Amino acid sequence: LAGGTGSVKLIRGLTRATREDFTIISNVGDNFWLHGLYIAPDIDTVTYALASQLDRKRGWGIKKDTFNLLHQLGKLEAETWFKMGDRDSATHLVRTELIRNGKTLADTTSELCRRLGVSQRILPASNDPLETWITTPAGTMHLQDYWVRRGGRDDVLAVTYRGAESAKPSTGVTDAILGASAVILPPANPVTSIGPILAIRGIREALRTTRSTRLAVSPIVGTAPVSGPAAKLLAGLGVPVTPLGVARMYAGLIDVFVADRSGATDEDAFRGLGMVPVFTDVMMPNAAREKALAKRILRYLRHTT
Ligand code: GDP
Repeated sequence: LAGGTGSVKLIRGLTRATREDFTIISNVGDNFWLHGLYIAPDIDTVTYALASQLDRKRGWGIKKDTFNLLHQLGKLEAETWFKMGDRDSATHLVRTELIRNGKTLADTTSELCRRLGVSQRILPASNDPLETWITTPAGTMHLQDYWVRRGGRDDVLAVTYRGAESAKPSTGVTDAILGASAVILPPANPVTSIGPILAIRGIREALRTTRSTRLAVSPIVGTAPVSGPAAKLLAGLGVPVTPLGVARMYAGLIDVFVADRSGATDEDAFRGLGMVPVFTDVMMPNAAREKALAKRILRYLRHTT
């Protein structure tokens, strides 16, 4: 189950560490319309990573992209807070056209994957509208407004997943979870990447009932996220910004929780949540460390499944 920048590090590691088949169930809560285009940032990040086109340093967009379109949009006094490169914008254009022609988000995703040479299966968690909205003292706004337009400066009072009650899992999602030998939650923002996926009742139930081993990797190392707004979001929800705080959010859905060694002092508390804790190096600053963590996880899963 994947978000964007943190998730792709482990996904990249897994593709290098194993030839086994896997399906990526992608968050859709960040998706939004801008300039008449339908943008799906997490799906794009995973797709570009698997197509070896992701700008690894930024963690989003296409490497060596140019920004002429964005520059011209600025001249025309249009919104420029969401950075879209020229090549990246081609993806948004093609996706929007396919959607306007009646294709589902899942169809457009598999079509874009085919055209970019990605063979792994990327399934949007849902084809139905599902958006993450953040309530702050300055008002309630879409996650993109909160994080990208306003730079995450507002305190978080509440988070809602609009549309989640009626959103259905897209075709193949629950079968993938029920039929997998393992389900992995990579280090991802638990509120804005994993939260929207788990807010879909059918997916939550599939994860609750599957016989596969369910393993999550902590996005919090020590008492801080490696990147992004997770700290403010967790604090706003009253969740401690620690691996254990994240683990509590996944209680009943996860069998194994992988965290950095600083979490070892909480071993009993993890076990109390019904999880086996695995303490290892969970930082992935480069390709070698991505592969090393993926190998560590696969080794654990092979011994226990
Ligand atoms: P987003 O959609 O771009 O926010 O990406 P994700 O939700 O997939 O990932 C963001 C989360 O990944 C953040 O909470 C980070 O703390 C975490 N993260 C990023 N890099 C790493 C890393 O190398 N190791 C670990 N353990 N977590 C990471």
